[in-house]
Amino acid sequence: MSAIELLAGQLEPFATVKRDEPLSRHTTFGVGGPADLFATVRDAEALKRATLAAADAGVQTFVLGSGSNILVADCGIRGLVIDNRARAEIVSGGGLTYRLESGTSFAAFARKMCRAGLAGLSWAVGIPGTLGGAVVYNAGAYGGCLADVLRRVRLVEAGGRDEWLDAASLGLVYRGSVFTRGQFVGKTVLETEVEMTPGDAKALLATAAAHDARRLGAQPRGRNAGSIFKNPPDNPAWKLIDSVGLRGERRGDAAISEMHCNFFVNYGQAKASEVAALVEEAERRVFERFGLRLEREVAFVGAW
Ligand SMILES: Cc1cc2nc3c(=O)[nH]c(=O)nc-3n(C[C@H](O)[C@H](O)[C@H](O)COP(=O)(O)OP(=O)(O)OC[C@H]3O[C@@H](n4cnc5c(N)ncnc54)[C@H](O)[C@@H]3O)c2cc1C
Repeated sequence: MSAIELLAGQLEPFATVKRDEPLSRHTTFGVGGPADLFATVRDAEALKRATLAAADAGVQTFVLGSGSNILVADCGIRGLVIDNRARAEIVSGGGLTYRLESGTSFAAFARKMCRAGLAGLSWAVGIPGTLGGAVVYNAGAYGGCLADVLRRVRLVEAGGRDEWLDAASLGLVYRGSVFTRGQFVGKTVLETEVEMTPGDAKALLATAAAHDARRLGAQPRGRNAGSIFKNPPDNPAWKLIDSVGLRGERRGDAAISEMHCNFFVNYGQAKASEVAALVEEAERRVFERFGLRLEREVAFVGAW
C-alpha cells in the first residue's frame, strides 16, 4: 500500500478525507489542480494530529486556509492538503482576550468585534481568509495589521513540539513573517490569541462600513486572490503595472483587472499557467521600464 493510502487510513477516524480533490474548488481564484489527499479537519487537535501523522508517514503537507492568497498549479499539490476548518473560540481577560482556532474566518471575527464594541480590527472586515493565513502574511489594510492585536500563537511542528510563541517572535512585517521568509517550514498555526480594547460599537461599525465602501469602489468582484504584488515603498504596484500598458491584458480567461491593475481575475475557466504568464509579463515589463523587481504577495504553490 502507498504512503498516501496508509496515511488516508490514519486520518479517516478524525478527518473527512478525499482523494484527487480539485483545488479550484477551494481557492478564491477558482484555479488549481488536484490534491493527492485532501483532509478536512474541524478542530485544532485534529489539525495537530493530521500534521503529525503526515510527518510520521513522510508525506508532504500543505495547510490550506481559505485559499485567498495562493495560486495553485494546474498539476495540483502532491501529498496531503489539510483543509483547516478549526473555528472554536474561547474568551477571557474580562471579555477582551480571544483565543481562536486558526481556521476562524478573520473577516467574520473582525465584524463580530465591531458589533460587540471591541476595537482593534475594524480595518479587517473585508479581508478574506483564516486567522492562520492572516498570521502568515500579517494581514493588514487601511493602516492596521494583525500584529497590532496579536499576542501569541500556538504552533505545532513536524517533530511534535507544541508550544505558544509570543507574536514578537514571528517577525511580522508588511505582508510577511518568519513563515513567508521560509524560517518556519513544517510549522502549523493551531491557535491564535488576540487582545481587543474597549470601544464604541456604533463608531466601529461606521468605520467598518467606510472600509467596505472603499473596497467596493476600488476592487473588482469575482474570482481573484487580492493584490498579486506587494506595493513597493514609493509607488503602488497597480500604478507600475498600469504604466507599462497591462491594464485589461488577457491570457485565456485570466486577466489583469481593468478596475485595479494589481488584481488579476479569473473570468471563468482560467488556468494557473495563464495567470502565471500575466504575472511574469508584469514583472518583466516593470523591470525593463523601471529597473524594479516586483515582489509577489500571492504564493505560487504546488507542482509548477
Ligand atoms: C478579494 C481579496 C481581498 C484581499 N484583501 C487583502 C487585504 O486587504 N489585506 C491583506 O493582507 N490581504 C488581503 N487579501 C489576501 C488574503 O486574504 C490574506 O493574505 C489572508 O490572510 C490569507 O488567508 P487564507 O486563510 O486564505 O490563507 P491561504 O491562502 O489558504 O494560505 C496562504 C498561506 O498561508 C499558509 N497557512 C494558512 N493557514 C495556515 C496555518 N494554520 N498554519 C500554517 N500555515 C498556514 C498556507 O500554507 C499558505 O502558504 C485579499 C484577498 C482577496 C481574495
